[in-house]
Amino acid sequence: MKAKVNKDICIGCGACTQIAENVFEFGEDGLAEVKKDIKKIKEEDKEAVRDAKESCPVDAIDIENE
Ligand code: SF4
Repeated sequence: MKAKVNKDICIGCGACTQIAENVFEFGEDGLAEVKKDIKKIKEEDKEAVRDAKESCPVDAIDIENE
């Protein structure tokens, strides 16, 4: 699984960074992003990433290869 935040849509609400704190963080622009050192989502973080996607109010999180 890979995840990506569409920064053109993200409003920086912080839902994803709270729900999946191992995966998402805020960048210097104040918008969420996947942590730089993460190439693939670890098995134990996948559920949180799915929850974060569902909780994003503007549907800015894309998930590949669930
Ligand atoms: S939940 Fe969505 S809008 Fe909120 S910070 Fe994360 S990507 Fe941005």
